[in-house]
Amino acid sequence: MEASNIQHVSTYKIKISGLVQGVGFRPFIYKLAHRHRLSGWVENRNDGVVILMNGTEKGVELFRKEILDNAPPASDIESVTITLDSDRDLQGFMIRQSEDLSESVTEISPDIAVCPDCLSDMKSQPHRIKYPFINCTLCGPRFSIIRDLPYDRPSTTMDVFAMCPVCRAEYENVEDRRFHAQPVACNRCGPAYSLDEHGFITESLNELLFKVSRGISKGNLYALKGMGGFHLMCDAFNETSVSHLRSVKERDGKPFALMFRSLSEANEYVEINDEEERLLLSWQRPIVLLKRKKPITPGIADGLSNLGIMLSFMPFHYLLFDVLDTAAIILTSGNFSDEPILISNGEALQQFGDKVDGIISYNREIYNRSDDSVAMVINKMPQILRRSRGYAPAPIRTHKRTEGIFGAGAELVSSFAMGKGNHVFMSQYIGDLKNFETYQFYQESYNRFRRMFRFGPQLLVHDLHPDYLSTKFARDLSQELGGIPLLPVQHHHAHIASVMLNHGLDGEVIGFGFDGLGLGTDGNLWGAEAMVVGYRDFQRLYHFEYMPMPGGDKASKESWRMALSYLYKCFGSGFQELPLPVFDEVRERDVENIRNLIDKSLNTPLISSAGRLFDAVSAILGINYRATYQAEAPMRLESMADRSEKGIYEYEIKDGQVYFQPMIRSVVGDLSAGISKERISGKFHNTLANLVLDLAMRIRKETGLNRVILSGGSFQNRILTGKSYELLSEEDFEIFLPDRVPVNDQGIALGQIAVGAANQHAL
Ligand code: ZN
Ligand code: ZN
Ligand code: FE
Repeated sequence: MEASNIQHVSTYKIKISGLVQGVGFRPFIYKLAHRHRLSGWVENRNDGVVILMNGTEKGVELFRKEILDNAPPASDIESVTITLDSDRDLQGFMIRQSEDLSESVTEISPDIAVCPDCLSDMKSQPHRIKYPFINCTLCGPRFSIIRDLPYDRPSTTMDVFAMCPVCRAEYENVEDRRFHAQPVACNRCGPAYSLDEHGFITESLNELLFKVSRGISKGNLYALKGMGGFHLMCDAFNETSVSHLRSVKERDGKPFALMFRSLSEANEYVEINDEEERLLLSWQRPIVLLKRKKPITPGIADGLSNLGIMLSFMPFHYLLFDVLDTAAIILTSGNFSDEPILISNGEALQQFGDKVDGIISYNREIYNRSDDSVAMVINKMPQILRRSRGYAPAPIRTHKRTEGIFGAGAELVSSFAMGKGNHVFMSQYIGDLKNFETYQFYQESYNRFRRMFRFGPQLLVHDLHPDYLSTKFARDLSQELGGIPLLPVQHHHAHIASVMLNHGLDGEVIGFGFDGLGLGTDGNLWGAEAMVVGYRDFQRLYHFEYMPMPGGDKASKESWRMALSYLYKCFGSGFQELPLPVFDEVRERDVENIRNLIDKSLNTPLISSAGRLFDAVSAILGINYRATYQAEAPMRLESMADRSEKGIYEYEIKDGQVYFQPMIRSVVGDLSAGISKERISGKFHNTLANLVLDLAMRIRKETGLNRVILSGGSFQNRILTGKSYELLSEEDFEIFLPDRVPVNDQGIALGQIAVGAANQHAL
């Protein structure tokens, strides 16, 4: 920008709000101003960043544009407002010491993957050669080390490390890349890694890296302290190590995530399109679910067509890959089944000490736990499936005032959320609350969020299910706080409302809530709803036929039970004579037992659920009878599907209910006729996508609504969601999928807040 003699120079005040603190925003403005030879200053305020500068109207406008175009990656600008200030004489450009280092820095940055500049400093800066905790104003740990606001070194777990004179000088120099980088550290003064091999300690980093790389090649297993918790690690191409790791993790059959050295090496095993590449390389560095294109070591993701891949996000990962022979390691969360991921060195030693060959940890405390986030791309749209490291606790900006509203979330895949002004702060992924330690993690995180974000609860929204531990938490909290109002919200209403708020929608939409189950307003279990939804209320227009769920909860894990339920309904007594593989798997006694439960309605609730239909078809085809992890049967069924299949099965719609007897009969017929499971699965997916379109058309005809939302765990299925999306777009529907929150139950808390905000004054 050139100073022009013709144009009038005035003093302008530029206010920038959003996530602009702790992400390198002031140094960015400083450099920008210097490049353009502008005079003035920049300062952190409670509610964002303020710039005062002299310039022409046009110059200031260009400056604004550059800010928006080139802002630091982890920043998230909400608004830029420019006002004319009283004319002042300003000399040079500087970063002003904040006058008010207070209270109200309202946002905390998520953890940020190490940046390219730091990676190159790690090779050239004398005091940071191979320094595994290198960071700058643009990158490094944030949420995982913050105890409280304001975000300042003393309120982080870096407080125990005194800066050396060199680091201090960088920290205080406004022109340095590490100006006010709170976790600044170097080889002389910062945290360090160590390796513990059954009491034999290695502290030299070079020696540690050498030992670990040799160990990995030999097939060793390690616990490695990461950003938000421990990982378990081994060579991804060593079958013995992989199966050893499986046994250490205990009965957990979940697929393992892999970390690859490079994009190109990952590309040998999985397909990566442009959007997926962008996600893999984003500063959040989530695990991205990618379509496998050639076989990988057995035991990693058996029976699944997707692989979870991530790239290095900590300096240590880069240093390790520099010396490793293998192109990929398994990096799976360091926990047992449903327990939270471990964060303390002591716990890691206690729990993994005799199960792994070594523990690689470091002497800085992880304060806030976070798992790796998981994302995928459907029809070019990024979807977040687990929102944790790199995403939490960045606020979700909404167009509604949500002050004081708490959303307690669901239960199995839980997360809570708090409304502050028009922001919603959603917790990191918490997990299954039925696990005692996980519920403690939930309670602890609630208290921390409340304190950090100065949250004053006024309305507590929870799921309609009275037995969810999140419901119990809300009730207890209400009592504790002298009876603040509670609001129960139906599960699928919350699923749809979360996507509405995510996209700033108002009015009514057509909502499909497909998942495993959620308690319905009629006391039955729901999970396959076609609804008309507004924030305040909803109307259920269509749903899958109610089916007996023999054994209740057990049927959620043992998919053969739902298979028998559907077969019995379709074929009546004698159904066990059908030539199906499921009858080789299930004992005659169990078949009799199921029949008995259904006939007498013993421990057999009624359920209308997409998830359970997937289970049934998966078991009828002999793909999966018992889930060793959540949604295994549907995931395997999806993986099996022939995507080129065009056929569709028949179903019936009568009085608002969808009946699948014709489909189940054809599935059994096709299987007996020798049609491949791949084709049958493909046809089954086509049928459901077609059904979504069919129901959407009917509802549009009845109501005139044209916006469609797909939400609930079943829409994590890329084929179902992808095909439904295509079919709906061809008929000119406007379709919305969540992009800020997961489509599964982790997104429920946001929906609860949305419904709470709409009903608040009616209470
Ligand atoms: Zn950096
Ligand atoms: Zn230092
Ligand atoms: Fe759900």
